[in-house]
Amino acid sequence: MKIISKGKMKPKNWSIRVECTGSGFRGDREACHSVLEAVGDDIVKLHYPVHRYGHSYHAYGIICPVCHSFTSISVKRIPGEIRAKSLMVAMKDDEIYKHLSDREKELSDLL
Ligand SMILES: [Zn+2]
Repeated sequence: MKIISKGKMKPKNWSIRVECTGSGFRGDREACHSVLEAVGDDIVKLHYPVHRYGHSYHAYGIICPVCHSFTSISVKRIPGEIRAKSLMVAMKDDEIYKHLSDREKELSDLL
């Protein structure tokens, strides 16, 4: 493929400003409303066990370093390369939890 004009946004240097609102998570934790700047490695994929239509799904977002709330970020705002390598987090009672890596379990336990 021929690149006509190279875009500025390289996933390596990608970052996003997010306010911790706790949106996209059904937990009962109060979000702290800190304003955060997340980089690619901060993006996690939260697995929800059962969707209301009967199947599981996931949401991308961040875990706040202050209050540990999950805040979802629209898929459109996260480059595909970053989504592809994001770590999975899940609730302990979720079937998928036992299949997570140690690092993913560590992150999941923050929720
Ligand atoms: Zn927070």
